Amino acid sequence: MEEVPIQIERKLMKEKLIELRKILGKIADLRYAANVLDWDQQVYMPDDGDEERGEQIATILEISHNLFVSDEVGKLLMDLQSESIDLDPNSDEARLIKVTQRDFDKETKIPVNLLVELSQTTTMAHNAWVKAKTNNDFNSFQPYLEKIIELTKQKAECFKPYEHIYDPLLDDYEPGMLTSDVKTIFSEIRPQQVDLIKSISKSKQIDDSFLKIKYDPSKQWQFGIDVAQAIGLDWKRSRLDTTEHPFTTTFGQKDVRITTNVSEAIPTSAFFSTIHETGHALYELGFSPSLRRTPLSNAASLAFHESQSRLWENLVGRSRQFWTYFFPKFKASFSEQLSNIDLESFYRAINKVEPSFIRTESDEATYNLHIMLRFELELELIEGKLKVEHLPDAWNECMKDYLGIIPPNDTLGVLQDVHWSAGLIGYFPTYAIGNLISAQLWGKMHLDMADLDDKICKGDFEELLSWLRTNIHQHGAKFEPQELIQNITGNKIEAQPYIRYLQTKYKEIYQ
Ligand code: ZN
Repeated sequence: MEEVPIQIERKLMKEKLIELRKILGKIADLRYAANVLDWDQQVYMPDDGDEERGEQIATILEISHNLFVSDEVGKLLMDLQSESIDLDPNSDEARLIKVTQRDFDKETKIPVNLLVELSQTTTMAHNAWVKAKTNNDFNSFQPYLEKIIELTKQKAECFKPYEHIYDPLLDDYEPGMLTSDVKTIFSEIRPQQVDLIKSISKSKQIDDSFLKIKYDPSKQWQFGIDVAQAIGLDWKRSRLDTTEHPFTTTFGQKDVRITTNVSEAIPTSAFFSTIHETGHALYELGFSPSLRRTPLSNAASLAFHESQSRLWENLVGRSRQFWTYFFPKFKASFSEQLSNIDLESFYRAINKVEPSFIRTESDEATYNLHIMLRFELELELIEGKLKVEHLPDAWNECMKDYLGIIPPNDTLGVLQDVHWSAGLIGYFPTYAIGNLISAQLWGKMHLDMADLDDKICKGDFEELLSWLRTNIHQHGAKFEPQELIQNITGNKIEAQPYIRYLQTKYKEIYQ
């Protein structure tokens, strides 16, 4: 006799899930539409369209926000929470309810007036930052950053209780990850990376002068297209354009766009940014169709997203195996510039290590140190241990400690990144964690596919991409990052595989 009420409940739950998915579908459509407007703004829009475009995007996001934080969604979630206890916790349905509830809590816990104030402040701060960076004038930016730090603290405090005030900020980008997790990983990695740089600096430096001459931009562009296609990008579902800062954006499961930046004088820049963004695009194109138009049709986290782009850019794209196949083709396009260069010299040149001031231009061996510096400083700012006025000095001191160099001005130092002016605090660690994840995946892939290196040497990436799709892409945001990496490798996010990867690689390159 008991079966009847359960059946009814199931039916009710099914109907409520359909209701919820309908609303979430509309929200997804709005998000993609806003992405189209943003993509157009960055790729094609004439300069003066700025203001109106900003209004249009803001309107769409407001409609989408209101649709989401409605009483209707709140009620549906509350009912579904209690009615879904019999569901397999790993099913799409159970995960959809869980992730939607998490997003709903996030969007409803922060008072609207605080969100408005933050958004107004960051709009003004962005302009102030652009000017300050151009004029090397930190003082003019300081009051904006002070306000952003203050408002960000207030935002974090909405999520009390927490272990650390930075936890809710980090959680926006790395669901479930704690500040203490990041601290533990970074403190393990930092001394080893600093040592590595020190011993490299004592070795004979690599000659990469042939990468500092002019290379035909149209041939560079074509090479990027060919590589993106070779590793699995389907041009029926993507396209490539040029922008100052390369990025990937998504309009749906079958339309993911990438951009690159072609520079005549830095011939590898277009190639590495194209393969990096292709890695992001392949992830977005690989989400399971069953997750379409839901919050699960998303990456597990920013670090996971970055693990995909960096895996293709660095572990594949800077490997000897990759260039065994592609160097003859690259050389055929640039026979004049590379006439005296063999595969080995080319491989060493694209892996040259040199401490530099700018994060986005740094090599694999120094990159994480740039991130750790930012993480430590923003942590101290949020904890109130560091005043914004002392930030430039703290920055320079850290640069000296980690990389052995001091920026000659703030434009090349504390003012270089857009993130803080945009209120993106908690974002930086994801870049370094992405590197760590990529090395963990790389290790597991080699265990699962014994002939992986041989296949890369032959330009065959099919099995590699299919491994990524099966293990990572198809799941979208169903699993939190720590859960996902554990499902794949048996371990949580850890530092050692990345350290071992760097040490092995550079020991061989720098002897
Ligand atoms: Zn990226």
